[in-house]
Amino acid sequence: MISQALHSGSAVNSAGAVINGDVQHSSAAMQASVLALNRNFSAVHVLSVRRAFCLIFKELAEVIHVEDGRFVGYDFDAWREVSELRASLDERADHDDFIRAVNFEIQVPRIIRLLKYDRLPRNAVKFNRRNIFLRDEHRCQYCGRHYTSTRLSLDHIMPRSRGGPDTWENVVCACLNCNVRKGGRTPTEAGMKLIKPPVKPPRSPLICRHLAQRKYAAWHTFIGAAASITVE
Ligand SMILES: [Zn+2]
Repeated sequence: MISQALHSGSAVNSAGAVINGDVQHSSAAMQASVLALNRNFSAVHVLSVRRAFCLIFKELAEVIHVEDGRFVGYDFDAWREVSELRASLDERADHDDFIRAVNFEIQVPRIIRLLKYDRLPRNAVKFNRRNIFLRDEHRCQYCGRHYTSTRLSLDHIMPRSRGGPDTWENVVCACLNCNVRKGGRTPTEAGMKLIKPPVKPPRSPLICRHLAQRKYAAWHTFIGAAASITVE
């Protein structure tokens, strides 16, 4: 039955539906993240669900699933069969995500293993706008209010015009009002105070946020202290 599914046109079309996002009731499931391990089981990336399915379907990766404390590897068709079985037996946990394609349901994997990739993770959390917003939890570091990304800006504590560097310790999230109010001054000159001193995060802020959620519990095994992996 597995080999039939492997070679049937419907399996290929179904995989295409997942990869192309042509699936129903699945937007939340498709927004999840997937941890990618290298061939030697070291965590190296965080990928989108679509990218993960693409790699699995091309046989460049396998799903890694925790079963009775062991990690079991599945290729696309085996994973699809297991997913259908779990769905039919109603063995789904609240935090499991399933996506429904035209003629089948498949569980969203939380971890995949890249079968042809053996490089190690890079050694630093990327210094970029997205990671600064995540580190500061989308809060203006002056007034303390939460904003969406579009209403936040990056503020150089020691202004750039006065030699302030682009570093984790000198750049914070600021709302547009606070940024304008501060202008080309230091916080002290502007009579403003930071809600906390900015520091370089020890690991990707996005990964920290994921680790706090139950559905990513399986990631803990692979993400120790050295979680400086890249996020897609
Ligand atoms: Zn503000």
